[in-house]
Amino acid sequence: MIKKIFNYSPNFELKKRRKNQIQFLILHYTGMEKETDAIKRLTNTKYKVSSHYFIKANGEIIVLVPDLYIAWHAGESYWKNFKYLNKNSIGIEISNPGHEYNYKNFSDKQIKSVLKLIKYLIKKYKIKSSNILGHSDIAPTRKKDPGEKFPWRLLAQKKIGVWHSIPKITLKKNRLKLVDSKLEKYFFKKLKKIGYVFNNSEILSKKNFFNLIVKTFQRRYRQEVINGKVDKECVLISENLAKKLN
Ligand SMILES: [Zn+2]
Repeated sequence: MIKKIFNYSPNFELKKRRKNQIQFLILHYTGMEKETDAIKRLTNTKYKVSSHYFIKANGEIIVLVPDLYIAWHAGESYWKNFKYLNKNSIGIEISNPGHEYNYKNFSDKQIKSVLKLIKYLIKKYKIKSSNILGHSDIAPTRKKDPGEKFPWRLLAQKKIGVWHSIPKITLKKNRLKLVDSKLEKYFFKKLKKIGYVFNNSEILSKKNFFNLIVKTFQRRYRQEVINGKVDKECVLISENLAKKLN
């Protein structure tokens, strides 16, 4: 049994969805200085945002929107052939000030609750491992959350989400080793295979656009260095993941 607190948000679609429409779990950080302000925002009609769950810094889980109603957390978003993922996902907001303020480690209590909640949701809705994503994965030009401090590797060890199987020593050896344009192209091809969609709706320059895509990938799978540059380590990881998801 998961202990939950209820604090319903008025921000959701009135039409109920079917259980089998829920195929993705999308993880966020709140990106606000104060936790109480984040909760207020997610429950205020003025802002038109919400999520299904909110994980407080002390690990408490708040239900903002019941699972079968569509919450407003993903915005313009893409993954494989899916667009605007709100209708197909459950959104989980994890309290953290984020990159704009004082991005900090998620607390142990938070991670414990995240693990418990996700395990429960995977079972209930038969969510595929490859469909557990960060907000930045589905909106790489707009979003950074949950960011490079989120312990995706630890989650993968508990069979949540996907991860590569490259030994640490190999990773380290290839870190920051820059690659030629051919390997860069190869890297982006692998990203597409993993599920990333390159949609430059922000009309960014090509350089800035690809820089953000690489950073998004690094925040998820190569958290040691977030520099937006494709290096050999990134290529190896992308290759390994694409193969796994085949
Ligand atoms: Zn988000």
